[in-house]
Amino acid sequence: MFRQTTAVLQKLRYRSFNGRQHSWKLKSTSARERAAQYQPGQKIHGFTVREVVAVPDLFLTAVKLSHDKTGAQYLHAARDDSNNLFSVQFRTTPMDSTGVPHILEHTVLCGSEKYPCRDPFFKMLNRSLSTFMNAFTASDYTMYPFSTQNGKDFQNLLSVYLDAVFFPCLREQDFKQEGWRLENEDPTDPNTPLVFKGVVFNEMKGAFSDNERVYAQHLQNKLYPDHTYSVVSGGEPLAIPDLTWEQLRQFHATHYHPSNARFFTYGDLPLEQHLKQIEEEALSKFERIDPNTEVPPQPHWSSPREDHVTCSPDALAPDPSRQNTLCVSYLLGDITDTFEGFTLSLLSSLMISGPNSPFYKALIEPKIGTDFSSVVGYDGSTKEASFSIGLQGMAEEDIERVKHIISQTIDGIIENGFEEERIEALLHKIEIQMKHQSTNFGLALASYIASSWNHDGDPVELLQINESVAQFRQALKENPRFLQDKVRHHFKENTHRLTLSMSPDEAYMEKQAKAEEEKLQRKIQALSDRDREEIYEKGLELLDAQSKTQDASCLPALKVSDIEPTIPVTPVQISAAGGVPVQYCEQPTNGLVYFRAMCSLNTLPEELRLYVPLFCSVITKMGCGALDYKQQSQQMELRTGGMSVSTQVIPDSTQLDMYEQGVLLSSSCLDRNLPHMFELWSDIFNSPHFDDEERLRVLVMMSAQELANGISYSGHMYAMTRAGRHLTPAGDLQETFGGMEQVKFMKRIAEMSDLGQVIRTLPRIKKHLLNPDNMRCAVNASPQKMADTAAQLDRFMKDVAENRKERKPVRTNIIERPLDPQDDSGPSRKLISELNFHPCQMKTFFQMPFPVNFVSESIRTVPFSHEDYARLCILARMMTAKFLHGEIREKGGAYGGGARMGGGLFSFYSYRDPNSVQTLSAFRRGVDWAKSGQFTQQDIDEAKLSVFSAVDSPVAPSDKGMSRFLSGVTDEMKQNHRERLFAVTHRNLVQVAESYLGVGQRTCGVAVLGPENETIKKDPSWIVK
Ligand SMILES: [Zn+2]
Repeated sequence: MFRQTTAVLQKLRYRSFNGRQHSWKLKSTSARERAAQYQPGQKIHGFTVREVVAVPDLFLTAVKLSHDKTGAQYLHAARDDSNNLFSVQFRTTPMDSTGVPHILEHTVLCGSEKYPCRDPFFKMLNRSLSTFMNAFTASDYTMYPFSTQNGKDFQNLLSVYLDAVFFPCLREQDFKQEGWRLENEDPTDPNTPLVFKGVVFNEMKGAFSDNERVYAQHLQNKLYPDHTYSVVSGGEPLAIPDLTWEQLRQFHATHYHPSNARFFTYGDLPLEQHLKQIEEEALSKFERIDPNTEVPPQPHWSSPREDHVTCSPDALAPDPSRQNTLCVSYLLGDITDTFEGFTLSLLSSLMISGPNSPFYKALIEPKIGTDFSSVVGYDGSTKEASFSIGLQGMAEEDIERVKHIISQTIDGIIENGFEEERIEALLHKIEIQMKHQSTNFGLALASYIASSWNHDGDPVELLQINESVAQFRQALKENPRFLQDKVRHHFKENTHRLTLSMSPDEAYMEKQAKAEEEKLQRKIQALSDRDREEIYEKGLELLDAQSKTQDASCLPALKVSDIEPTIPVTPVQISAAGGVPVQYCEQPTNGLVYFRAMCSLNTLPEELRLYVPLFCSVITKMGCGALDYKQQSQQMELRTGGMSVSTQVIPDSTQLDMYEQGVLLSSSCLDRNLPHMFELWSDIFNSPHFDDEERLRVLVMMSAQELANGISYSGHMYAMTRAGRHLTPAGDLQETFGGMEQVKFMKRIAEMSDLGQVIRTLPRIKKHLLNPDNMRCAVNASPQKMADTAAQLDRFMKDVAENRKERKPVRTNIIERPLDPQDDSGPSRKLISELNFHPCQMKTFFQMPFPVNFVSESIRTVPFSHEDYARLCILARMMTAKFLHGEIREKGGAYGGGARMGGGLFSFYSYRDPNSVQTLSAFRRGVDWAKSGQFTQQDIDEAKLSVFSAVDSPVAPSDKGMSRFLSGVTDEMKQNHRERLFAVTHRNLVQVAESYLGVGQRTCGVAVLGPENETIKKDPSWIVK
């Protein structure tokens, strides 16, 4: 749905087999080898093989095919990875902003010929062990991907996906529910006013409450004004009500056709089976058409353009007087030129990434704005790429200055080029990214190739990254000014560039609301009495359809017996280095070493807690030892895959009032760079540079801006964190570290004219870190590298522990727990116990500049080890699928909503919700529904499948053993929990609903983030912020 941010290689991540008995490295007849047997010209199930290419750097074999009868294109990436992926994408090129591709994306998932039940897509979430299921609408394509580790599941999901996209019902009712409709505010009462409703309508109102999104949309529309990129593919809220049901069906007929489709499969399942199923269930029923969906080249401007737009003021902006955005965007070449795209994306990183880049030095360091503009760098998601550079959070009077700096900086680059070391650092980063194995490699590949392939670029060429690297080195060798010439051509001499500024308008929200009201009135005035009656009747019909118990028996489903009864064991060894416990986990890490250190902060004075997140975000970015921050950044890029520090709040698994607080150091590097990485960590902790106030101010502003921008996107997380604040001590700390309290704190810091006090505070936190008494480390590396890593870690620990001082904990309530629950005599971790903690009820409302709400209610329940924990997990999932989804999304019109269990809290939430207090009562009705026991064994089984697909989601080699390391949850405890999940019964669910969720049973907290709210304001039980 969102415009893709495309740092091309960022997306390339690996994953390996999730570690059952075999590893992909050792398998004898691998999927890759089998795929290498195909011959160009070979016919398989209606397809012809076009090309077979081994890509050894990515451990895969690519097979390109085309469908004989329809011309559908197909790419298979065979790789010994059990997390198999399927995706089908269509080129969807709307010519208006009614959101037709987006609404179509939603409605095809509402039922199809073979699976006519309502919402098969959402229902499959509960009938499968999928590791991923989703659908996306980009500017010029719509993609439907899923992944699963189970072969039977793959066939089931493929069948549902094929039927959905090629043979959807597209009922009028689906269009109204998902797209837009006029309806009485209360559909049961014809006297209530008519209003606009619809899932996409509300989703897009929510999306456009995000100023970054507004800016990005305008920028694209204005840089490519002559064809499909000039419209809003997701839908402009006020244009959505111009779409008709007939137009939607027409768009489907012309765009969702095999002749306009690209299929991608990935993993270790055999290709023939996929082809056979796709041919039989879909493609054989079509004849070739000419879809005529090509995007023509954007005619180039003969002179640069300027434009201006407005947005709503941001109450949380670090500095309210500086809320302007300015950015210059350049039209670049066609993305189907793979090497040109590779070069320009590298060039973009050299120009803007990190403190050594020319634009960072020129724009960020002088602190003219809070951060780069939300759209920045190379973007290859459109047929012709673009590059953007600019600032957000700046004062209006600086606009001319920024324009001048941008053109000056470009001149400077043309003159001076880039240091060789920076180019090397970037190529090193590509090497690491190609070696690092993530769990969603198939999905990453699908989105990596999607845009170029969509315009008939060669997806196989894109996968051959090392060839692009070699070609790049050669080009630099032949012409040392290769990059400078590119900059001259694409930036200096490029007349197709747009300078777009955005400023806040106090009346923005009001104008939007007024425009919507006028649109509504125009629609209403055109209605006859008969139309009104019909609207009322259809509203009732929809409500009736939504309320009916739904028969999903037509859909395929896995059974609970298809779930693995036991978890795969992850062996770890616990030993010590320099007096500190270390967990070693041998994994096929492909030549990388992953190092983590958890530092408990149980000696930290209370008043320093709020500063910990800031400490974490700056500690690796201020310079250390002999290195200033630029040199430090350079070394980190040259020698590591990244070094970061993050806050940790770890609830105890047995006691709700116990938890561990601390920070986690995480880093990775190629085997050969291990000594360099430890040296950097040593310097960071022995001699960090905290005293550079100018540098600190830059980092503070960026953090504050990032936090403020994140709320409209993750508002439900903020609402849940706030709702849980007064329920457990860990919940309280979560709010301090990452809730609205932290957002407001960072805003205050960003507004300080003198950061001296902060500079004095940060070193005080550091003193509580790296105390061997409060520390433990974890290493994930290949078996061959383990001994060497241990020796180096030992030296590192001795080195950092040298200048430590003993600290007495300020709290006396520290409880020690053995790291290995089976071994009381071994090393331990220290938890804070607040057994006198009194949970209390609190209802908090945050008034925000958005038109939609985020609502949460959280209830204190039981810790992980309690036997009811598993029951509450299943209950949360079942209530989400069988009750809350219908009430909050389908009837309420919110983008999403549900319940989840975690950290001892049972939490309800809604996302981008037009309602607030009504949603709270929907949560309550959900509890009544659960207590009434009106659900079936099938409902329970589906909830179990859904819970297990999350429990069993693949874990990357770099992350294996982490839950044990951080929370002390062993494989045995996990297996125990697993057995409890299997054992949950109907009776258990009713019981836990009665004893935990009923009104007055347990302490609960409520929080709402949303627009001005009269009902809440009048109710004295609410605290309004
Ligand atoms: Zn959507």
